[in-house]
Amino acid sequence: MTDPRIRAAYAEGAGVYRIVPDAVAIPRDTAEVVALVQHAAATRTALIPRGAGSGMPGGNIGRGVIIDMSAGFSALTVDAHSRSARAGASVTWAEVNAAAKPYGLRLPPDPSSGLFATCGGMVATNAAGPRTVRYGSVRKWIAGVEVVEADGTVRTVMREAGSGKRFALTPDTRHRVASRFPKTRKSSSGYALDRFAESGDEVDLLVGSEGTLAVITEVLWRLDPIPPHIAGATLGFADLAAIAEAVPYLVSLQPTALELLDETLLKFTPDAPSVACLLIVEFERETAAAARGAVGDAVRGLKHALAQVETAVDRAGLDKLWQVRRLASPALARLPLSQRSLQVIEDGCVPVERLGEYVTCLRAAATRHGIPVAIFGHAGDGHVHVNALPDITRPGWRDAVRRLFDDVTDVLVGLGGVPSGEHGVGRLRAGVLERFYGREVMELFRNVKRAYDPLTIFNPGVIIPATDWSPLDALKVGDGAAAIPDDIATRLRDVERNAAWATPKPELARQTPET
Ligand SMILES: Cc1cc2nc3c(=O)[nH]c(=O)nc-3n(C[C@H](O)[C@H](O)[C@H](O)COP(=O)(O)OP(=O)(O)OC[C@H]3O[C@@H](n4cnc5c(N)ncnc54)[C@H](O)[C@@H]3O)c2cc1C
Repeated sequence: MTDPRIRAAYAEGAGVYRIVPDAVAIPRDTAEVVALVQHAAATRTALIPRGAGSGMPGGNIGRGVIIDMSAGFSALTVDAHSRSARAGASVTWAEVNAAAKPYGLRLPPDPSSGLFATCGGMVATNAAGPRTVRYGSVRKWIAGVEVVEADGTVRTVMREAGSGKRFALTPDTRHRVASRFPKTRKSSSGYALDRFAESGDEVDLLVGSEGTLAVITEVLWRLDPIPPHIAGATLGFADLAAIAEAVPYLVSLQPTALELLDETLLKFTPDAPSVACLLIVEFERETAAAARGAVGDAVRGLKHALAQVETAVDRAGLDKLWQVRRLASPALARLPLSQRSLQVIEDGCVPVERLGEYVTCLRAAATRHGIPVAIFGHAGDGHVHVNALPDITRPGWRDAVRRLFDDVTDVLVGLGGVPSGEHGVGRLRAGVLERFYGREVMELFRNVKRAYDPLTIFNPGVIIPATDWSPLDALKVGDGAAAIPDDIATRLRDVERNAAWATPKPELARQTPET
């Protein structure tokens, strides 16, 4: 489709960008994806694979042809015996879990965007969630993927099926990867050569490849039994410095979630306690006594540092504790233009023992550049989300955001972190990857890209930066934003405000009597 209104409806994803594509294709099955890829290869047309469009760093938008994989690819079967699910690329996390639940099973990593995030998008970004502290990101739960490759070949790549014939590491490059990759608990920052080196599995190159190596059409998931008992607590601290001790201690108790809400976020959350930071900790166990015992250990062990405690001994009680976290994102999405929430430094991850330093540096950088921030996220993984809240009605805001981006990049490099714990590199962070990995590993990334996509038809500018990379070009806000019809811009903003990413995007282009 090349209709201008349809193209406008696909010009934005979550995150900061607006780029109007040349065309949009909505394939219904794998054969149509093959035809598209073959056409793209013959005409050197860029293809941008896309699921719900909820990804943050701009991997789901771009010039070229968007392949909207969220319409077909909806088959879903659960095999309770082998504890697995086979799901088409458009199936959401919530749908996988709804189908698995009657068998007492689930897909453990739990992205907050699970209601709309698609299997294709989750695999492509190596998505994660609060439970990742115990269960890892989705990578660990992927038994195999079906992909359409750059020459139109359809292939199923299974875990433990070997490294494939496209890309290999030598002893020398293996050593380079081991020495250069930051040692964080989570990462969605570039091709996972560290995981590939460990497992020898080609699937580890495809997971987290952000639509740059192949189009994912189907995913085979491993499922896990749902633990029967749960208990948890919210723990408030008067001083941020307390998390240096509290987080490693709580991690040692094997929580199934350990989330941080910093005061910079709490002030936007209705009825939040007034503390410097709040940790939400959750324990899933085989018995109620074990779950409650873990909460007791958590509270007793940190008693000397706590300013506020609330505990819950069942799922209903825990849901109430999580409410404070759930209310935060919608509150941020609805802020006025004088505090527009922008996701530009939103996904940094550091070694867990450096989390306190990272949050302190983030607060200082925000003050230095006059841009408020809201900090929250996955403390147990050393990974926090940071929404920058610049006043975009004031001159100079864009330069200030750029300085903040550069400063936070410096901080992350200095702390041995990565620029993305779960959202991916996209266009936003492609140009800083080399600072984290060095020139030689970046060259290995280029070799991976060439091996799978020699004509660069898949998502150019994502992971491997464009030669004119500039992270704050093509923003959806401010004077330079690409022109699209006002009614579509309003609908896209509503999608963002209400997290309505499951909306079929052609609906945003529909004409009404007023338009
Ligand atoms: C409110 C909100 C909360 C969020 N919370 C979380 C969270 O808790 N954890 C988390 O990990 N993320 C979170 N995200 C980010 C986002 O939801 C995830 O990155 C998600 O996995 C993206 O899925 P999607 O279907 O929207 O993919 P898209 O945004 O459409 O695409 C994301 C990337 O995947 C590629 N891609 C998509 N489909 C395919 C395919 N079939 N084949 C090949 N490549 C493909 C795209 O090219 C792009 O690079 C959140 C986003 C929002 C808006």
